[in-house]
Amino acid sequence: MLRVGINGYGTIGKRVADAVRAQPDMTVSGVAKVSPDYVAIGAAEADYSLYAVDGSRTDAFHEMGLEVAGTVDDLVADSDVIVDATPSGVGAENRPLYERHETPTIFQGGEDATVAEVSFNARVNYDEATDADYVRVVSCNTTGLSRLVAPLEAAYGIEKVRATLIRRGGDPSQTGRGPINDAVPDPVSIPSHHGPDVQTIFPDLAIDTIGLKVPTTMMHVHTINVTLENPPDDDRDVRDLLAAQDRTVMVPEHARIDGAGTLKDLALDAGRPRGDIWENCIWAESITLEGNDLYCMQAIHQEADVVPENVDALRAISGHLSGPESRSLTNETLGIGFGHLDDRAIRRLEEPAAD
Ligand code: NAD
Repeated sequence: MLRVGINGYGTIGKRVADAVRAQPDMTVSGVAKVSPDYVAIGAAEADYSLYAVDGSRTDAFHEMGLEVAGTVDDLVADSDVIVDATPSGVGAENRPLYERHETPTIFQGGEDATVAEVSFNARVNYDEATDADYVRVVSCNTTGLSRLVAPLEAAYGIEKVRATLIRRGGDPSQTGRGPINDAVPDPVSIPSHHGPDVQTIFPDLAIDTIGLKVPTTMMHVHTINVTLENPPDDDRDVRDLLAAQDRTVMVPEHARIDGAGTLKDLALDAGRPRGDIWENCIWAESITLEGNDLYCMQAIHQEADVVPENVDALRAISGHLSGPESRSLTNETLGIGFGHLDDRAIRRLEEPAAD
């Protein structure tokens, strides 16, 4: 049983904790919190051992009736692996703590790539993380782009990727980022930093990205153009290829899912925890081939798509399962895939009932 400590229990940390708990080969040794807020109360109610990031604030936890198992230093000492899900840049500041305890650590995509030996995507480079002590799970956008690029590159070869990332202004709990009513080039310079981040996974890929922020908390939406080296004859081949991947969902026309809001509604209807969507959602109708140029649109749930990748990174770093074994176990335990969105299931619904 791999004992996993979570340092930074916010949007990503709390989801990773629940995903780790769902695994048969891992357990959550505890979660470290800065403040005794509603999220800390939720962690205690979920029966996670709470550790105080700042030992001098332990009394504040006690005043809220919350038991504290120790400081973050104790959590690192009590864990086989740490998932650092602190705000961007804080992970790098924490690295000496993990080094002192010789505790391998998974960092998140807000950190600079230099924080770790390997930038990680479970589909692409699982094996590279096997002997690493420090691994960075790339950002939500980079994860979404990598999942799309990997099968296209393998099947057809890629000359160039051009992607526009229409990014959510903030997560639902990030009230400090709004309210806003705008569409903001972010960054205004082109290309954005996302392309180089994808190159931490695909070093030889030619990719340019453009970023914008819009006033929604739902999901990011990517519009993508990939120039293929050897395109298939029919765009339905691309559709079948992407539909066959384990963490991409093809959104069929019949489902009448017209945007990120409907996708979130679907996830809530499906009983997904926190309405999470771990998969890339690609609109099937958007998949279009014009000569060598492939176009498509996909939605990425920023709060959720990196969660299964963190679980796989934990197995990669501990080295006890192969990449395909880990991915399949993670998919099964989390319930990844919207089987009922599958074209065939929808066609069955539309067929007249047999006499
Ligand atoms: P968040 O602000 O929701 O959560 C971070 C948590 O860490 C908060 O609870 C905060 O109080 C706590 N914290 C602050 N300083 C700390 C410290 N010194 N030690 C321990 N905990 C501390 O942030 P998030 O959105 O979960 O992002 C975490 C990381 O994941 C970042 O690198 C981010 O770029 C990356 N990421 C975020 C998203 C997203 O959309 N939210 C998606 C993918 C990756």
